[in-house]
Amino acid sequence: MRTDPDCIFCKIVSGDIPCFKLFEDSHTLAFMDINPANPGHVLAVPKEHWEDVYAIPDSLIAATAQTAKRIAEAANKALHPDGINLVQANGPGAAQSVFHFHLHVLPRVKDDALKLNWGPKPGDIGDIEASFEKIKAQLG
Ligand code: AMP
Repeated sequence: MRTDPDCIFCKIVSGDIPCFKLFEDSHTLAFMDINPANPGHVLAVPKEHWEDVYAIPDSLIAATAQTAKRIAEAANKALHPDGINLVQANGPGAAQSVFHFHLHVLPRVKDDALKLNWGPKPGDIGDIEASFEKIKAQLG
């Protein structure tokens, strides 16, 4: 299995570091975030070490998303939050701090003022189209 001896999540997967383990299957693990942004904050990770969304194989991101969905359903029933965000960071500019792919399952409380909420504002159509053209060209 792909692993990194310096990665904190790999150490959690191997059992070298403890966690509040909620769920495990052959490819994924879900455990409580130790610095919760809100009560019930959970992380879903692949057991293999893949740094980010660019590196992780399709099958493993799918497996991790399925685990996150299972956790979100359980947290929704157990905690009755006002909502739940699934959040995932890639790179320091996106505030990724652990470079082992993970999905945050983040229960929300109305008006909790987490910085996640950027407040939609109408975009400039020219700017939207310019980004659209660049990304579309990469998709082929
Ligand atoms: P990110 O900043 O998106 O890379 O998220 C990494 C998350 O991992 C943060 O929310 C941390 O609180 C969490 N974290 C780091 N170390 C541990 C740990 N030992 N057990 C549980 N969660 C952790």
